Amino acid sequence: MELRNCRKCRKLFISISERNICQECCEKKEKNYDRILEYLNKNPNASVEDICEATKTTKNNVAELVKNEKIALTVSFEYKCEICGKKIKMGKACPECKKKVSNELNKAIDKVKKEEGEAKARDLATKFALNLRDKQKGRR
Ligand SMILES: [Zn+2]
Ligand SMILES: [Zn+2]
Repeated sequence: MELRNCRKCRKLFISISERNICQECCEKKEKNYDRILEYLNKNPNASVEDICEATKTTKNNVAELVKNEKIALTVSFEYKCEICGKKIKMGKACPECKKKVSNELNKAIDKVKKEEGEAKARDLATKFALNLRDKQKGRR
């Protein structure tokens, strides 16, 4: 457990897991997501502008859901790769960056495995994933 500032409203809250937003914002987000999902079920070909207007949400919220692969849009909707900034339509990073990151990680893990053993390599994999996430957070 640790005390953190909510990423959305900046309020202090006690984080029990990996969460970086407070309970209130989390609930708001869930409701938002439900609304968007419901709207998309009824209007599968809705544009992003339609979704924002009908569900009182922002393009950023919609982009976040697409990035996390929670929703899929039939219309074309582009946003930036979190690493290089190139326009993409799916996932958090473009295929090139994804490949680069996993190549780097595999190389590093292989090296550690040879030099320091399996357990250390697993350690590194976890740390690397956390690092990357923090880096991406800072870019927003
Ligand atoms: Zn909050
Ligand atoms: Zn990229």
